[in-house]
Amino acid sequence: MEPLATALWYAASGVPVLPLHTGGGGGRCSCRRPHCDRPGKHPRWHPRLITAGLHQATTDPDQVVRWWTAWPRANVGLRTGVTVDVCDVDTPVGLRLLSALVDDAAVPAVRTGSGGLHLYFAATGAPNRVRVLPGVDWRGKDGYVVAPPSIHANGRRYRWIRHGPAPDCPSELISLVMPPPPPPPPVVRYPTRYAAAALDNEAIRVRSAPVGQRNNTLYRAARSLGRLAAAGHLGEHEVTDALTHAARAAGLGAYETARTIRSGLTAARRASTADAVPR
Ligand SMILES: [Zn+2]
Repeated sequence: MEPLATALWYAASGVPVLPLHTGGGGGRCSCRRPHCDRPGKHPRWHPRLITAGLHQATTDPDQVVRWWTAWPRANVGLRTGVTVDVCDVDTPVGLRLLSALVDDAAVPAVRTGSGGLHLYFAATGAPNRVRVLPGVDWRGKDGYVVAPPSIHANGRRYRWIRHGPAPDCPSELISLVMPPPPPPPPVVRYPTRYAAAALDNEAIRVRSAPVGQRNNTLYRAARSLGRLAAAGHLGEHEVTDALTHAARAAGLGAYETARTIRSGLTAARRASTADAVPR
């Protein structure tokens, strides 16, 4: 099939297409730059026809006709991540590793101009990823592949070796392709009802402690709430805030208050560490 007819067929099946430069054999590229680094693989550019490459890939047949009328021999790029993703296998080792995960005989496949293999799966939502396995890359969201009947820089054509609907990607392969989940957010522990009540009670006790008992009461409160903090029911900063307020309201000095709370919390921490030591 001619590039235009094939591009229209891809577009009609819902895969956005874009015109690429064409390989000319011997490593040449239709862009004619002497040192093109991606011969036959990069998007065409024209101020009135296409300026944003991949981002203008389309399924609109009129646009496809305009492009391939301007460049009848343009290679056909397919945007991945929309309806299909492509598993790009470059080496025999890669193919062997992949075959252990996927029944590749059931997957539509293209023999690339360089002799590699493109396996077509239903889009997974995964982004591009290199080295999913040694010799295996993934083309997903915001990626594209060169498709038949494009011509590689070595002069050979890309060709379909298996047709058919793109199947879902098997879970064994998806787990390699999907980026690892982001680390969990830091745990914020809200006071359980019991811990919140304990916090209120201790603060009241400190606030109403008679002169002569204030410092002792504060220390005991800090140690007791410190045990709840060590168990994760309260944050130490919450304990410090509540007790500081209460102690200052009771008339204790700032320095003494801070020191007493700190030593109560430290004692609680030590006690809970000792608890945790297996006997
Ligand atoms: Zn080029």
